[in-house]
Amino acid sequence: MQLTSKLSEKKYDVVIVGGGIVGLASAYAAVKKGLSVALVERESQNKDASVRNFGFVTVSGQQSGAHWQRAMHTRNIWADIAPKAGIEVEHSGLHMLIQRPEAMDIAEAFLQTEMGASCRLLTQAEIAENTPYLKDGLGVLYSPHELRVESKTAIGKLANWLSRAHGVDFYNKTTVHSIELPIVHTSRGTLQAEHCVVCPGTDLHSLYPETLAQAKAKLCTLNMMRVMPKKAFKLNAAVMSDLSFARYDGFAQLPEAQKLISLLDNIQSAERKAGVHLIVVQSADGSLIIGDSHDYNDRELPFRDVRVDDLIINEFHQVMDIGEIDIVQHWLGVYPSGDNVVFKASPEKGVVVGSVTSGTGASTGFAFGEELIHLVLESK
Ligand SMILES: Cc1cc2nc3c(=O)[nH]c(=O)nc-3n(C[C@H](O)[C@H](O)[C@H](O)COP(=O)(O)OP(=O)(O)OC[C@H]3O[C@@H](n4cnc5c(N)ncnc54)[C@H](O)[C@@H]3O)c2cc1C
Repeated sequence: MQLTSKLSEKKYDVVIVGGGIVGLASAYAAVKKGLSVALVERESQNKDASVRNFGFVTVSGQQSGAHWQRAMHTRNIWADIAPKAGIEVEHSGLHMLIQRPEAMDIAEAFLQTEMGASCRLLTQAEIAENTPYLKDGLGVLYSPHELRVESKTAIGKLANWLSRAHGVDFYNKTTVHSIELPIVHTSRGTLQAEHCVVCPGTDLHSLYPETLAQAKAKLCTLNMMRVMPKKAFKLNAAVMSDLSFARYDGFAQLPEAQKLISLLDNIQSAERKAGVHLIVVQSADGSLIIGDSHDYNDRELPFRDVRVDDLIINEFHQVMDIGEIDIVQHWLGVYPSGDNVVFKASPEKGVVVGSVTSGTGASTGFAFGEELIHLVLESK
């Protein structure tokens, strides 16, 4: 990446605050409109949700309506720019193992919706051929839309490409302290901007705290793991299970979901209380990222509860038939979780703040970035 050490004296059309996926996506939306862009990130590179996630660009399961549309649009942008930015798509599609009749009811209802139009239940022959590593179940719901990128490298590659191919100036190790357009005050001096888009992730207190308070966001902490199967195998698509039908809005908000939710609240109460469900994705070296859990608080939690990891591992073995695994990494991730799936507002002329408040930024960020740029251009 072209790291700009000295702050430029030129006046940018847009200064973006925050180098997570939402900030990068907003930068991309701005350069596509022919605007000059600077991006300011306080770390040497993002170390938060955007690199701690699964890199799972999920469409099926997103809340129906506008958010599902955001996900579909974002997925198409990832597919377009990934090869240009040198980002590998590790695998595509989603297999949801259906373990209970109540989950089959949801899958069948989902297939009747607009969201299910390109999805289907696999035949027994397809299950045997495409998902030999899944435990026996009542069926497998297949969605073709999903993509999996390796976030820990993809975010850096995306930033590099925005710099190299689109002329975005990156000011890293630089914190934005306040904005008084056309001046943006940073820890290393000032920048000049016509517009400013603030994408602060979980930092809801530093810039425009009153505006961000309107998102009514809690901070959600997730347990995540990387595991290495003892016997190598290739995952053909991301995997989820019954607990995901009960968790993801696109399924869980269907009227047919109530029976499964009540059942799981009863028979997997520990998992449901800890917000555990299963996502499995694979990296190029054969390792799997597995998770996750959801613990909602007023602040970021520094401590990891290993009993929650056990619940995730246990669910993993209920779904995956791949024998023993070694846990090679543990980490926590945090995202803001609000009343609505996204939050955007203009606290003053020429400034917009935006946050994905539903833990779905990798899946919806590019569409949301376009919305933020549209809003900031209108706010002048
Ligand atoms: C464990 C985990 C798993 C997830 N899995 C998925 C998934 O598979 N699919 C999916 O779609 N979503 C997933 N999500 C959600 C997704 O990762 C987030 O929605 C998304 O990364 C949020 O991006 P962001 O840019 O808003 O925030 P962040 O990644 O938090 O980035 C914000 C950036 O802003 C910078 N910043 C803040 N304030 C300032 C300032 N004043 N000056 C300069 N810089 C500043 C920070 O340093 C940071 O780099 C997951 C989240 C977590 C935590």
